[in-house]
Amino acid sequence: MAKETVLLFIITILMIMPGTGFAGTTIQTNQRIIVIDPGHGGPYSGLAPSSGMEEKTIVLKLSGKIARKLESRYNVILTRTKDTNISQPERMFIANKNLADFFLSIHLHNSKEPSGFFYYYDPPELGKGEIPAAQNTWKSQPLLHQTESRQAVNSFLNIFLAHKKTYRVFSNGAPIILLEGATMPAILIEPLSISLLPQNPDELSNILDEYAVIIVKSIDHYFEKK
Ligand SMILES: [Zn+2]
Repeated sequence: MAKETVLLFIITILMIMPGTGFAGTTIQTNQRIIVIDPGHGGPYSGLAPSSGMEEKTIVLKLSGKIARKLESRYNVILTRTKDTNISQPERMFIANKNLADFFLSIHLHNSKEPSGFFYYYDPPELGKGEIPAAQNTWKSQPLLHQTESRQAVNSFLNIFLAHKKTYRVFSNGAPIILLEGATMPAILIEPLSISLLPQNPDELSNILDEYAVIIVKSIDHYFEKK
């Protein structure tokens, strides 16, 4: 075949199958794109109890469970699937490059009572006449989506409170470094306390399954409200 014929052939194939890229991954363009970011990884363990699993391992397991439950209805991308460390800019680059509709960073806390913490990006206000430094332009990107990020936090609060009666929730705007540079609604959640989790692997897995369901419902609720 002549070069032109081959090219035309490829273009025709792409027109027939618009969702098929060369890499073999199929992006369903009619589905929303969600990036799930399991915190820490590699040498960065996060919260590390004297016995039992570290935060990096638990959030990776939880993120995998959430991703599997979302996959039939959303395009889901994980920032890491292994025990490796990725820098904050790399995590956000994955979300921005893929034009994600939502970025969800997942961590744990270490409270003595069953509770959840839900954050959106909110840096301290500039003083009067203070001009934002050039390097802060990147950081303040999430402010473009602050209203939507707050709405996402509210969806999580609603669903968590409906499912967990004896659970305290805290929502907060904070200058969260892990959300810097997001060009989409982005939140960070700490749905579980590491010190209250069971050591038994089966019991732990059951609890993570239960929370994965609630987190998926929260994501659905947010997109239904939009
Ligand atoms: Zn953490």
